[in-house]
Amino acid sequence: MTATTQAFELSKKTPLPMAVKGKFMNHVNEEHQDELVMFIEAFTEARVGDNDTVLVQEVFADGLLISADDDSLPHFIAFKDPIDESTTIKSQYIHLLQSAAKKLGKLSIKLQQRRFTVIDRDFASANMLRLKVRAPKDTPLNHAGFAYLFNMLSEEDDSPKLQRYYTLRKAWHEKGSEGEQTLAWIDVFVHGDTAGGNWAQAMRADDVLTSVRDYPEKIAHLAQGQCLLICDETSMPTVANLLEQWQNPIAPMVILVTNDPKDLSYLTDCTLSKTLANHEGFFNSIQHITKTSKTDIQQEILNIIQANPIRIEKVWGALDAKAAKGLRQELKATLQLPRQDLIMKVYWRG
Ligand SMILES: Cc1cc2nc3c(=O)[nH]c(=O)nc-3n(C[C@H](O)[C@H](O)[C@H](O)COP(=O)(O)OP(=O)(O)OC[C@H]3O[C@@H](n4cnc5c(N)ncnc54)[C@H](O)[C@@H]3O)c2cc1C
Repeated sequence: MTATTQAFELSKKTPLPMAVKGKFMNHVNEEHQDELVMFIEAFTEARVGDNDTVLVQEVFADGLLISADDDSLPHFIAFKDPIDESTTIKSQYIHLLQSAAKKLGKLSIKLQQRRFTVIDRDFASANMLRLKVRAPKDTPLNHAGFAYLFNMLSEEDDSPKLQRYYTLRKAWHEKGSEGEQTLAWIDVFVHGDTAGGNWAQAMRADDVLTSVRDYPEKIAHLAQGQCLLICDETSMPTVANLLEQWQNPIAPMVILVTNDPKDLSYLTDCTLSKTLANHEGFFNSIQHITKTSKTDIQQEILNIIQANPIRIEKVWGALDAKAAKGLRQELKATLQLPRQDLIMKVYWRG
């Protein structure tokens, strides 16, 4: 398409009003550039450079206009169905995500309802409440960071949606009197009077948890090279599962931030993979930051990285929005890693 025909085609479209698209554009442009790159790579002939900034420039009822900061024209990516009273941008975006991932052979979000039955609950460490659940048979056993978006309110409740993501800390098959079943742990950070903590603490045996979305965390890049893992309470379940399944011959550098120093045991109590168990003193190498109201998380993490002579080749981390966004910028500038090797996620907002 020439610049003139594209400009003409676009001039016939009406952008959605800011009230409908503004929040979506800000969120996707800040947090999901990797997915926009996937759209360009799956649906166009173009390729995006590692250092290119990719942005949703405009949202129309029938698609997204995405620009990458090379010389090419912005790319129009069509939705499956136009946005109207019954079709949301979110649903169309997820549809694009699923078809792009399928085309590129990657895993992606799935919108499906899943039910988990509580067997019992216990604390895995001082502030991490563990729900042991019976899970659907096809629950992934070996994907660290596989998460579900849980409904906090019952299906009968008419209140607006209240949902939180929680990660499958571990899942396994076990033979019982009713044959083989799939069991799993879901670990919830309990901190004061919050929706997620209250929901988990109210759970009793035989209660049913309902999730509406599966979310496979991006961890494939950690299979090789010197990795750095950065987590707090909300992302410790992913890191613990990674350490239990670690096959990469190089041990990762781990930085853990917790509010209560006692929660360090959540990681040091996990059973290391055979590969990692060969690295003597691995648990002692975990760098632990105890957070107080005065702690500058971003700076403390950078200080640890700068004081360490090893060359970091891959990063996976998840923290609060402020620290994650700040670190992503800093690490991008200092480590110079390709986009797919620097994954720094927002798991909660202050
Ligand atoms: C993909 C994904 C997977 C996740 N997996 C897990 C998991 O396995 N376990 C888990 O516990 N959480 C997990 N989270 C985070 C979880 O979804 C909640 O956002 C988080 O637990 C806070 O929810 P809340 O209801 O407890 O607190 P909110 O009601 O969201 O927040 C209440 C207050 O607590 C503060 N707050 C929230 N988290 C923290 C924290 N870590 N440290 C200090 N203050 C905090 C907030 O600033 C806010 O002021 C995951 C998030 C994502 C996106």
